[in-house]
Amino acid sequence: MSRYCKQYATALRLIALCCAILLPVILVAEGNAQKPNFVNYQKVIVIDPGHGGHEKGAKGPERTLEKTVTFNLARIIAVELSNTYKVILTRTDDYWLDLPNRTATANHESADLFISIHTGGSFHHQARGMTLYYFKEPLGPALTQTTELLKPLNSGTQIPWEKIQNRHKTTSSALAKLIRKRINEQVIFVRSKVQGAPLMVLEGADMPAVVLEIGYISNPAEEKSLRDINVLSKIAKGIHNAVDEFFQKVR
Ligand SMILES: [Zn+2]
Repeated sequence: MSRYCKQYATALRLIALCCAILLPVILVAEGNAQKPNFVNYQKVIVIDPGHGGHEKGAKGPERTLEKTVTFNLARIIAVELSNTYKVILTRTDDYWLDLPNRTATANHESADLFISIHTGGSFHHQARGMTLYYFKEPLGPALTQTTELLKPLNSGTQIPWEKIQNRHKTTSSALAKLIRKRINEQVIFVRSKVQGAPLMVLEGADMPAVVLEIGYISNPAEEKSLRDINVLSKIAKGIHNAVDEFFQKVR
């Protein structure tokens, strides 16, 4: 083989070697390029405006009704999130809906998140602040009767619906903490806390789920805030930031 041919053969081997190394890299890169489309399928968020119809919820000193605040806020959150997510409201007007139906909407829509909106109410006008709840099983008897209904899991096993939220305890708690942090960045509430509670509306939700008690409507200053569209918009902005962070970091 001539020197020229040897050099030519070496060059070919080098090209073949480069192809062998680079081709999988290119394929992986293409795989990664396509991955965001798969990962970023449109997330579904179900927002539940608490109360409605004859069930007015708590009432403020200026006669503001909890059911009105929760509905106004839910609609503002829906607009705020709708550019990025598919948002579904459990009730779309002023009518009553029982708790199991609200949870069932989230399950039926295969929601990625379920956020139920309430306000606090107290006989003490000084009570104030924001509380975020994730589901925690009751220490005593269960809030709901044990049912025969079981949800089949991919593993081939089954789980009672009233136990389903336990699978999401960590992510629900993380979501509550993120929402608290991000709403607090908007500087609205003096006090805020996250706590577990055996809330029926969360119990059968098969996704990260929280109840947001957004200030005390019975507190004159907070009632005034909850009537202010600018305050509600800030709360919605905080929730949007929290939801974005949740999907980026937690799930
Ligand atoms: Zn309520």
